[in-house]
Amino acid sequence: LVRARNVHKSYGQHEVLKGIDLDVRVGETIVILGPSGSGKSTFLRCINHLETMQGGSIIVGDEQVGYQMRGGKLYRASPAVMARQRKDIGMVFQQFNLYPHLTVLQNIIEAPIGVHGEKRSEAESYARALLERIGLSEKENAYPRQLSGGQQQRVAIARALAIKPKLMLFDEPTSALDPELVGEVLATMRDLATQGLTMIVVTHEIGFAKEAADRVIFMDGGKIVEEGSPEQVLVNPNQLRTRAFLNRFI
Ligand code: ATP
Ligand code: MG
Repeated sequence: LVRARNVHKSYGQHEVLKGIDLDVRVGETIVILGPSGSGKSTFLRCINHLETMQGGSIIVGDEQVGYQMRGGKLYRASPAVMARQRKDIGMVFQQFNLYPHLTVLQNIIEAPIGVHGEKRSEAESYARALLERIGLSEKENAYPRQLSGGQQQRVAIARALAIKPKLMLFDEPTSALDPELVGEVLATMRDLATQGLTMIVVTHEIGFAKEAADRVIFMDGGKIVEEGSPEQVLVNPNQLRTRAFLNRFI
């Protein structure tokens, strides 16, 4: 589903991604670990083209994100094509950023109706199904401030799922939460992984990586340093840098 090749990204002179290669198959859950500043968020932002890369390519589905073919040539995607490509990619951030003046249900149906022109009745029934999936059906008329941080983040996940993405990107979705609320969000994500959603998750939750990841990737200094099954990378890492990083969590 995802094919990233030799992805390079710099901010001015500062080279943040130094050639990232990654393939993700449909249904896989990939966990990306790595120290602060290693380029994890930048890489996720390149996948949905919130950042423009200086080199390499990222294909999601069968299209190069941010570009379109016309007459056999590759051009920058038009805003309409860009919007269609982004529709396949949902993203959840550390900060949930729900609209405070909208109810839970209104938050979830906003993009399907407002951006993608779905019928209200269809958007609402899908939103209710999502709320049931994350166990928050009774909160559909609540406002974000009436929810705990963990509940808000689960709503943010439902909102991202409402556009029916093929791929979900999570950037440290639990790191802004109080410790006692982390578990419920990870449980929701684990369910999604089990249900076959394709996910790339940046997180420091090693337990989640062990249980839910099909593959774990360790990034450092803008490169993938190590990649393998959770056992390989988390229990028997080959690289000293991976080992040093993991030791901080023990
Ligand atoms: P963290 O674990 O702290 O979230 P990260 O692995 O997600 O770190 P990135 O946010 O991808 O790291 O940042 C990688 C590097 O790129 C950092 O050195 C950061 O300072 C730099 N950087 C990120 N965004 C920008 C920007 N918009 N302009 C300039 N430099 C940036
Ligand atoms: Mg980050």
